Amino acid sequence: MMGKIRNLAFTIFSFLSLSLLSACSDSSDGDINIASDFENSRTYFSTSTSVELEVVYEPDAAPLTEDTFGGGIPIWGITQANIEEVFSDRPLPVFVNVPTSLSQMTQVPTQNKTRWTVEDILQFTDDFRRNRSSAIQTYFFVAFVNGIFVNNDGVEQPSTIGLNVTGTPICFIFKDVVSAGSSGDNNALVAFLEQSTLVHELGHAFGYVNNGIPLASDHWDEENGAHCTNENCVMFWLNEGVRNLTQFVEQYMDSGSLILYGEECILDAREYLP
Ligand SMILES: [Zn+2]
Ligand SMILES: [Zn+2]
Repeated sequence: MMGKIRNLAFTIFSFLSLSLLSACSDSSDGDINIASDFENSRTYFSTSTSVELEVVYEPDAAPLTEDTFGGGIPIWGITQANIEEVFSDRPLPVFVNVPTSLSQMTQVPTQNKTRWTVEDILQFTDDFRRNRSSAIQTYFFVAFVNGIFVNNDGVEQPSTIGLNVTGTPICFIFKDVVSAGSSGDNNALVAFLEQSTLVHELGHAFGYVNNGIPLASDHWDEENGAHCTNENCVMFWLNEGVRNLTQFVEQYMDSGSLILYGEECILDAREYLP
């Protein structure tokens, strides 16, 4: 049983790792300015006093929300806690609001898509996003969809579990990829995987690593894009082999901490005072 779980965990972390690669190689085209004047790290970390998530999902791609973590904390409390940690101790206090139940998220019509190009992702966002950020109010857009990502060269990315369109607040999670890696009914593991993927992609949206939020210490994995050299940080580009997701979850739960970002990434945010 343990071996089965470990294999599963290994597969899932491979997915996560691969997703990090493609998430970061598929930036938006340089000549399309899809981010508004307020959708950048400088604004998030200077004038903004609230950070909220707008979450939408296709009917068959709803995120898991029923599981709890530790002492009855809703599973989406993981994302809430990680955002709070990034935006804590600011000169201006930042209010963080993450939905924790499906009733606080928005179901959109089935898109009947098996493949998503960057253009599709931007069109979907244009169709269904309701909130845009201002100087004082920040919204990140999170979509749970069916189908898989297709990169700018037209190559399908069946292992890409999530992505952030670089330089934008747009994060996508591909539920079919989550499901493919989670045969069986270990909902707690899937729920955790969704949360850790979301925390990772939001990290890119905030400006990690060295992609908007400047480095406070030497932990930028430059060879692998906007990622962290700390293997225990959710922003590490590859977390397979030495560790696997089961160990990661066990350690994470044993630690009693909700925070998936390593201390180096947290310090970057602390010391960023634009
Ligand atoms: Zn990444
Ligand atoms: Zn880190």
